[in-house]
Amino acid sequence: MEKTDIKSLTPEELVSLVKDFGEPKFRAKQLFKWLQSGVENFDEMTNIPQTFRDKLNQNCYIAGVKIVRRLSSKLDETVKYLYELYDGEYIESVLMKYEHGYTVCISTQVGCRMGCSFCASGIGGLKRSLTASEMLSQITAAQRDNNIRVSNVVMMGMGEPLDNFENTVRFLRLVSDDDGINIGLRHISLSTSGVVSGIERLKEYNFPITLSVSLHAPNDEIRNSIMRVNKKWNIDTLLKACRDYQRVTTRRISFEYAMIEGVNDSDECAYELAERLKGIMCHVNLIPANPVKENSFKKPDRGKILHFRDLLIAKGVNATVRRTLGADIDASCGQLRQKEGILNADLL
Ligand code: SAH
Ligand code: SF4
Repeated sequence: MEKTDIKSLTPEELVSLVKDFGEPKFRAKQLFKWLQSGVENFDEMTNIPQTFRDKLNQNCYIAGVKIVRRLSSKLDETVKYLYELYDGEYIESVLMKYEHGYTVCISTQVGCRMGCSFCASGIGGLKRSLTASEMLSQITAAQRDNNIRVSNVVMMGMGEPLDNFENTVRFLRLVSDDDGINIGLRHISLSTSGVVSGIERLKEYNFPITLSVSLHAPNDEIRNSIMRVNKKWNIDTLLKACRDYQRVTTRRISFEYAMIEGVNDSDECAYELAERLKGIMCHVNLIPANPVKENSFKKPDRGKILHFRDLLIAKGVNATVRRTLGADIDASCGQLRQKEGILNADLL
């Protein structure tokens, strides 16, 4: 019989699990607290009787992530982790320190099948989606490794969260539970390349998270040339879904726009973008394109990026330039990848 991924279970599901084992109901809460605190095996659960721990061991497993490499930036306090999963796959995630606390950028899949041309995460395609427990474990492992508490999570690592919808929703519920890691949904951002079917489903949950939409282009011609997903859901369809999402959740949407020299950085692009975003309560995050060795995309110079920002602001669009963290350890947006990247990193 296949073992149960116990760390992905909700408090209610744990109640029915302990009942099946003939244990009293209060054990469910004890279990949930232990699991979400990041324990790696059942023997750490000191208030659970040995006989029950043995049963758990036989029937369940704790999907942790094992730290294989840790790269610390010399430029800022960013740390990038390479984790090994129970089946030998690898993922990366990043711990960042801000004035207001610690943020973890988690991966949601091993690889990615969306194939955006500027991004390293999708180069090898999709291996598999992560379970909710594996998403949670990226946070608990970073907390334990540094003896800190993480206050914010961004789902902006490897993978497309809305291409892993069920596990993403499960993760959001578990991570925000008072008895668990307890990070409020308002402190979580979910980034999508524009999977419209997923945005429509997510809207029904009305989570107070920040939805970040990777737009990266003001028109279909440019977007088609860099993002395959646009051929399925074009900009009009995507922005309609964003408007609907906003109407239901009343949350401001964040649009990400990776600035790539000669591709999407002209004044016309800024004007066109401002025009298309009219009427959407939003914020545009300009991300200087980060280098990926497999492509030749470059970021425009700083002056050009600031000029683009100012054009948007002049047209009434809220816009800022995202700070680049962990530049010396390939820990920035779009640079996370499976094992190969980090093992070949120059720093090692
Ligand atoms: N799959 C999701 C979330 C992960 S990517 C998504 O695409 O939104 C996180 C962000 O990094 C996205 O906005 C993505 O477009 C951006 N990104 C990818 N490659 C990049 C690169 N080389 N430079 C700058 N941003 C990049
Ligand atoms: Fe996947 Fe996001 Fe990278 Fe596109 S940008 S390949 S959706 S991780």
